[in-house]
Amino acid sequence: MNRTMPEPLLLTPGPLTTSRTVKEAMLRDWGSRDGEFIAINQRIRDRLVALAGGEGTHICVPVQGSGTFAVEATIGTLLPRDGRLLVLVNGAYGRRMVRIAEVMPRSVVAIETAEDTPVSAAALERVLAADAAISHVAVVHCETTSGILNPVEAVAAVCAAAGKPLLIDAMSSFGALPLDATKVPFTAVVASSNKCLEGIPGFGYAIVRRDALAAARGNAHSLSLDLEDQWRGLEVNAQWRFTPPTHVLAAFDQALREHEAEGGVVGRGARYRGNHRILVDGMAELGFETLLPRPLQAPIIVTFLMPADPRFVFPDFYDTLRRKGFVIYPGKLTVADSFRVGCIGRLGEAEMRGALAAIRETLAEMGVASGASHPVPEAVR
Ligand SMILES: *Cc1c(COP(=O)(O)O)cnc(C)c1O
Repeated sequence: MNRTMPEPLLLTPGPLTTSRTVKEAMLRDWGSRDGEFIAINQRIRDRLVALAGGEGTHICVPVQGSGTFAVEATIGTLLPRDGRLLVLVNGAYGRRMVRIAEVMPRSVVAIETAEDTPVSAAALERVLAADAAISHVAVVHCETTSGILNPVEAVAAVCAAAGKPLLIDAMSSFGALPLDATKVPFTAVVASSNKCLEGIPGFGYAIVRRDALAAARGNAHSLSLDLEDQWRGLEVNAQWRFTPPTHVLAAFDQALREHEAEGGVVGRGARYRGNHRILVDGMAELGFETLLPRPLQAPIIVTFLMPADPRFVFPDFYDTLRRKGFVIYPGKLTVADSFRVGCIGRLGEAEMRGALAAIRETLAEMGVASGASHPVPEAVR
């Protein structure tokens, strides 16, 4: 391995670039019964509840695995076996929640909108009125498939009026975009250690209403993904039921300290909005077009339409950028051929400008004059 080559920066939906100090927090071992480790767990759980505005009403339950494990655990724990889940879908993560419910199985229905269209609170209201069997509603806050911001406030208001518990997958927004239980009533919010809190991947968590969790005993289809049982374990002896990801938790404790030092949700959100502005403006100068108009776009990840120039070959573009130290992400949209560039993780103005310079150079090397997704006449090239 060439040790002088700096590690690549990850401009992706995750895993993400983390700070050196977060990585360094992992350079020791903890016993799971170690008093210091138990204190780390309590601090993390308390801080996450506070970030969600859930003090006094909500409990944070962590679970081993990637974010999807926590989504699956939350759906499986909160939905009774005869429950019926309604998922608002406008991308891969909404579709994944439908799939999770099908596999369990739990009865599930989806309201699907196109990937470039926010989910509809009005459609939700109509379907809830027509289908009394629906017991729970689930929505993705920022649908990372496209980078679109869904109207969770309006969705939460409809759910509250209908008396339906709302589960929010806020994986790619939590910690950077405000989501406060006192303003947006939710039963559960699910996120992970990586993404906007800039920890190391390895666990997810749900911030769940205490009353809903207490009523969920015996619902789960799975032992390891039973959040109610995990919660009871933590209450009884402050222990995780099964081997905790000790190093990941220590790193996350440090990541939360850095989040707070940056100004919490407001400060982190401001840095990401800055990154987003630099990226979108710089890419526009190179001719690239975004899938979404700005008002629909979250400052998390941006979908760019594939350039029309036949000299633009995405795998070559990707590999050249990777050699220059920047990792981007292919698109996985059905509505358009695209690729994605992330604004989250330990990245700031210098890194975003570095990425833009590398993209500019790469286009020049490929002989691509414009990133426009429509053919550009030869004369103006
Ligand atoms: C990243 C992400 C997840 C979880 O993905 P994992 O790969 O399981 O960590 C879930 N929902 C959204 C919206 C995400 O961005």
